[in-house]
Amino acid sequence: MTISDKAGYNKISSVDIEQLSAILGAEFVLYDEENLLAHSIDHTEDLQFIPEVITVPQTVQQISDVVRYCNRHNICITVRGAGTGLSGGALPMHGGLVLSMKHFNKIIDIDTNNFQCTVESGVINEEIQRAVQAHGLFYPPDPASKGSCFIGGNVAHASGGPRALKYGTTRDYILNLEVVLPTGDIIWTGANTLKYSTGYNLTHLMIGSEGTLGIVTKVVLKLIPHPTKNLLMLASFTSAENACATVNKIFLDGCTPSVCEFVEPEGFRLSSAYTGLNFEMDERVQAYLLIEVDGKTDEQVMQQCEQMYAVLEDADALEVLLADSAEKKEHFWKLRRTIGESTKHNNVYKEEDTVVPRGRLPQLFTGVKEICARYNLRTVCYGHAGDGNLHVNILKDQHSDEYWQHETKDAIREIFGLCKKLGGTISGEHGIGLVQKEYMPIVLAEANLQTMRAIKFALDPNYILNPGKIF
Ligand SMILES: Cc1cc2nc3c(=O)[nH]c(=O)nc-3n(C[C@H](O)[C@H](O)[C@H](O)COP(=O)(O)OP(=O)(O)OC[C@H]3O[C@@H](n4cnc5c(N)ncnc54)[C@H](O)[C@@H]3O)c2cc1C
Repeated sequence: MTISDKAGYNKISSVDIEQLSAILGAEFVLYDEENLLAHSIDHTEDLQFIPEVITVPQTVQQISDVVRYCNRHNICITVRGAGTGLSGGALPMHGGLVLSMKHFNKIIDIDTNNFQCTVESGVINEEIQRAVQAHGLFYPPDPASKGSCFIGGNVAHASGGPRALKYGTTRDYILNLEVVLPTGDIIWTGANTLKYSTGYNLTHLMIGSEGTLGIVTKVVLKLIPHPTKNLLMLASFTSAENACATVNKIFLDGCTPSVCEFVEPEGFRLSSAYTGLNFEMDERVQAYLLIEVDGKTDEQVMQQCEQMYAVLEDADALEVLLADSAEKKEHFWKLRRTIGESTKHNNVYKEEDTVVPRGRLPQLFTGVKEICARYNLRTVCYGHAGDGNLHVNILKDQHSDEYWQHETKDAIREIFGLCKKLGGTISGEHGIGLVQKEYMPIVLAEANLQTMRAIKFALDPNYILNPGKIF
């Protein structure tokens, strides 16, 4: 069976509400208009799906009981973290029940001896970073939404962020997960060890599964020593292709920046207008690279900066600004992190999460611009250039709804075709969710999709968890 073969789900009745209230307590079963609307959107485009009921469990056992109940009564469940997702994963497209993880917000243990910590899945990413830093430890994955997104959402999307370049993504820091399976069984997926060779790796199966295979309730994270020192540079270029090509030159020269972000001037213009933060722009500039180096001592970071500066000069950077104070760094970071929000505030847009092998970034950028010019679509490109991960924000501008729904999709198909041709794929970190699933066959063979469907069916034969996502 696949989701499209399924006849549908039962509507949630007053009897169901009584039963759910008996499991959770009536005050944790919500169905007033304000709450339903608040849980009907996330940060994806302008999509909205209204749930029937929202449940806010307090314990793992309650989640297990809710899942068992829903399985018996054919009610679908969409798990929701902070709702910052960009692919519609947390949207209840079949109605049913939204299960909010917002009360799973405790840091349970920081084990400084073993460099690991155990947290509930509704803890905000940045709170974990701050808590472990107080012990001299470092949890590197830092999505630009780190101030609000939950660690469970990060696990579900295998999220990245600027520092993935040097340190890896969420996937590289998960040792073990407590998960409620679609049957209601509660399991730990692995062990709290740095190595694991004990059968199929269920931890990695859950990472990136977008709430379709299980509900993550606790997360054991690997930590590393905190690098403590860093410096930030902003290099400007008169050619965007040259900025993209410079990214690889930095690595070929042996530099290992902790961050290397690409931003088109329009990105900074929008975020400066949105935040009110000053950003002076030379009109010759066609692209910026925001580069961070880190280390244990001032000498270490300064030496890396000098090496980087020589590469940038060699690559004809127009100007290189150095942010050496906490205020200056935060100024640039805030401008960078708010580009997505600023674009959304300014225009209707679709955000694509293209990724290719790093050395092919210039071809990706040039190809995206060429495709969008043919469709008369304006784009703002920015993202994690050091990972070959370019976010392409396509703007609706004056186009009709009809054009937006059809021709834009053709343009996106061409962009994803280009990603595939360049050896890349259609999402580096935002996941597939609802909005990218129609494009999956561009990059995956039917045998790949069939294998994924078989896994879904084996774990969730009634398609209770987050139906209609990924495929
Ligand atoms: C301004 C902005 C900047 C962003 N920058 C980045 C970035 O730099 N890098 C990046 O990778 N992403 C980025 N994102 C995307 C987003 O923040 C991440 O995907 C994040 O991990 C989502 O977490 P969340 O808690 O908001 O999850 P939600 O949006 O609530 O849910 C996302 C998916 O995870 C599932 N899910 C949530 N919690 C659980 C759980 N406990 N168990 C099982 N499934 C669960 C949901 O069902 C859904 O499918 C950005 C988003 C915004 C708005």
